[in-house]
Amino acid sequence: MERKTLQKQNEELQRTIRMTVRRIEHNETILKRFFDVELKLLACNKLSDLIALLLTDFKHTFKLSAVTLYLFDPDELAKDLLIGIPAAHSKALTLFKRQDELNELYPNSELQAGELSTGLRKLLFPDNPFVLSAAMLPLIRQDCLIGSLHLGAQDSDRYSIDYRYDYLSHLCSVISVCIENCINQESLQRLSTIDPLTGVHNRRAFSHDIAREINRAHRTQEQLSCLFVDIDHFKTINDNYGHQTGDRALRTLGNLLKEQFRKTDLISRYGGEEFAVLLPSCSEKEAVCVAENLRQAVEALIIRDIEGTPFRLTASIGTSTFAPALVIEKRDDKALRYQSELLLKQADFALYEAKRSGRNRVYSHALKAVRRENESIDQSVNG
Ligand code: GH3
Ligand code: MG
Ligand code: MG
Repeated sequence: MERKTLQKQNEELQRTIRMTVRRIEHNETILKRFFDVELKLLACNKLSDLIALLLTDFKHTFKLSAVTLYLFDPDELAKDLLIGIPAAHSKALTLFKRQDELNELYPNSELQAGELSTGLRKLLFPDNPFVLSAAMLPLIRQDCLIGSLHLGAQDSDRYSIDYRYDYLSHLCSVISVCIENCINQESLQRLSTIDPLTGVHNRRAFSHDIAREINRAHRTQEQLSCLFVDIDHFKTINDNYGHQTGDRALRTLGNLLKEQFRKTDLISRYGGEEFAVLLPSCSEKEAVCVAENLRQAVEALIIRDIEGTPFRLTASIGTSTFAPALVIEKRDDKALRYQSELLLKQADFALYEAKRSGRNRVYSHALKAVRRENESIDQSVNG
């Protein structure tokens, strides 16, 4: 009898050990998943990548039904950095300009978990009526709530106030640091390369762009064209309508350039009312066509001053083209700089010619020479 009891106790003990080992293994798997996610978070240096990781990878990794994110974005820095993210991501992301709206979610600044009330479900997961329980993760930096991440599950008991969420709490801190770093670093980089008025590259970024594109043109043996676009009589626009309206005109032209050109073209504000555009894989004739289309689009723009009075503007455009020689040229820094400067000088000279011959026209540095032999090209270009 005693032996039987002992054997039973032994079996019981073995079962407990097996269950404990299984639980440890399960926890290890979860922990590894958390570590992997943490590494991925730390490797992100773009806010859009970080958002994609939180909204998509988290959903798959943690087998969730929905993930949504709130961010406090008082100066719209995040908004600027997230232009063009996939629609599914922007749907799951809400940016707040006021912090009190976020603070209301966390009366005691702590992670919350459990079954969701209908009201909260509609607020946090408006597109997912099947979410029944959720974890709400406050993202805090220097005692300030900078965001809120919401993990939603279809099981009503997946998240509960009775469980401990040490890993998730730790992850909250990592996510908060990563978000802040990405916004700071990217905004800083943006400040040094983007013109704040128009949102296109500034002159500093342009000098990098042109060196890189000349190098690429050598490698691919493709032509590279450059346009210099200068608003005609812009000083008069400022004088007649005021500086603020002048700024608005510059912004409108910047937007038009962004609409008109391919994704691979590089647009920058070269100076006050002068823009430069690099067109990779683009011949002289193609560049002239593109420039002529742009000239007509600028002419068709209607801009309004602050009182709503409409006015128009025109632009003169100079084009130049770099054609890599088939023979291998010396391609050191000095040669690349020389070729970049030459391309710029030629476009600038063509622009000068466009201004000199009456403004509101396109002038091509290379085709100008053709003009004497082939009048029809000249007419299609400058006529
Ligand atoms: P042209 O047809 O010969 O190009 O004449 P223009 O009047 O356009 O050229 P000019 O170089 O004489 O004047 C350029 C003007 O652009 C003068 C300057 O005040 C204005 N400008 C430069 N930067 C800005 C800016 O950021 N905002 C505004 N509103 N005006 C600017
Ligand atoms: Mg001008
Ligand atoms: Mg000018």
